Amino acid sequence: MTRRRPSDQSERIPSTQPLRCPIHGVPLEQGPGPAGSAAWCPVEGRYSTLTACPFVCPLCRHPLDWAGECNACHGSTTGERDSWTFPGDRYDRFDDQGEPLGDGLHWYLTKAGPRRAVSAATNVANMQLLRELIAKIGIAKDGEA
Ligand SMILES: [Zn+2]
Ligand SMILES: [Zn+2]
Repeated sequence: MTRRRPSDQSERIPSTQPLRCPIHGVPLEQGPGPAGSAAWCPVEGRYSTLTACPFVCPLCRHPLDWAGECNACHGSTTGERDSWTFPGDRYDRFDDQGEPLGDGLHWYLTKAGPRRAVSAATNVANMQLLRELIAKIGIAKDGEA
């Protein structure tokens, strides 16, 4: 059977329905930031969880993620690894200790962009430090602390 009732079809076309904040149940709106998709919860006054980041890269117009990262051009006009940046603002729902920001279900601006990405050399150096640390202490298995 390929025929569907009209009510089934309308449920399968999400673009006809505005996204709703899963916490507050209200239709999401376009937020105050740069133009993009409707992800703003007017009740909380913040971008709602489970939404795609509505911002686009100022360099290449590719959608950004909530960390402010562009996976297309990496915020670089040259493509050189050491010139990578986070062209957008960073939003988080949890702080560095894992504690929720607010209710933990809406996005908080935590770092304004653009920001320089960690250089490849720094990445390698940090990974070496991590390896040395793991070699020293070993890796705890599940259930061990
Ligand atoms: Zn909400
Ligand atoms: Zn880009």
